[in-house]
Amino acid sequence: GREWHLVARPEGWPKPGDFALVEAGVRQPGPGEVLVRNVYMSVDPYMRGRMNDVRSYVPPFQLGAVMEGGAVGYVVASQAEGFEVGDAVLHGLGWREYATVDAKHAVKVDSELAPLSYYLGILGMPGLTAYAGLLEVASFKPGDTVFVSGAAGAVGSLVGQIARLKGAGRVIGSAGSAEKVAKLVGDYGFDAAFNYKDGPVHDQLTEAAPDGIDVYFDNVGGDHLEAAIAALKVHGRVTLCGAISQYNATSAPKGPRNLALAIGKRLRLQGMLVRDHAALQSQFVAEMAGWLKDGSLHYDETVVDGVENAAEAFLGMLRGDNTGKMVVKLAP
Ligand code: NDP
Repeated sequence: GREWHLVARPEGWPKPGDFALVEAGVRQPGPGEVLVRNVYMSVDPYMRGRMNDVRSYVPPFQLGAVMEGGAVGYVVASQAEGFEVGDAVLHGLGWREYATVDAKHAVKVDSELAPLSYYLGILGMPGLTAYAGLLEVASFKPGDTVFVSGAAGAVGSLVGQIARLKGAGRVIGSAGSAEKVAKLVGDYGFDAAFNYKDGPVHDQLTEAAPDGIDVYFDNVGGDHLEAAIAALKVHGRVTLCGAISQYNATSAPKGPRNLALAIGKRLRLQGMLVRDHAALQSQFVAEMAGWLKDGSLHYDETVVDGVENAAEAFLGMLRGDNTGKMVVKLAP
């Protein structure tokens, strides 16, 4: 099978030459392991951080070694109790066609309930991030006016829709193209949306939320966060989920310059990591699957075909080529 190696640490924006597709052998499973034919692999923003040689909440990728990430596929050989050939599983050894996985780190998923790729998005890590980040971290209440950035992406599109379904007063989103903005209002039911490339975020947010906002779900950081701090009402809450505008930065970021407003407004800005919210998993899957089934949730994916296009898919996701979750299809 083929697998992707990181061969150079990116400076700023990653380049195709930082990655190499390598032919590797397929190792048969040992005791307690399963061999998985990966069908979909995920490309996610956090992987950019793992390409830097710095200590973070996940260890860096090693140079010259295969990368990792979420993947789903079918068991083709098993030496693990409870796993049989043909079982669909979710695990952490993506960026390769075949994965030999410790069964302790594989979770069986139901391919009847939803398409396999959904376990990398709406029913998986990004879905739980949206659900927990809004309901738990931001302490969302019905009636809240919610602003979310990165709103046409995997996490953001779900944040806005969950807010609507849970009775938000008003939902506002920002994204990076006119098509995405039209989709936010047309397909996802946002009350207002704007293209952050059209003008200052501060001005566009003020227009979209003249009475201010109660919650800001931050996927972007920088000028988005600064604008949100200005727009937040007293006792407003911010979920610091991501800062994708800074992931390829080569110098220290500028803002927010108005953080002192948080004092008088008694704002709460709270960082989150999805892995702290595993206790919500079953409630999250039940509620999301219900909304999917009755059609109240709209879910988009951008599917790139072929393992050979995975690095380009990752770069495309950083540039905003995706609407909804970006995944790579590795096998039929
Ligand atoms: P998305 O599906 O949203 O894809 C990334 C999107 O970011 C692109 O489509 C692009 O859309 C947007 N983007 C890229 N550069 C910029 C920029 N300079 N300014 C504004 N938007 C930009 O990814 P995810 O939904 O997977 O992740 C969204 C955020 O959530 C990320 O910040 C990620 O790191 C974070 N995250 C955090 C987790 C946690 O546990 N804390 C877990 C999962 C995700 P556009 O066309 O609109 O620019």
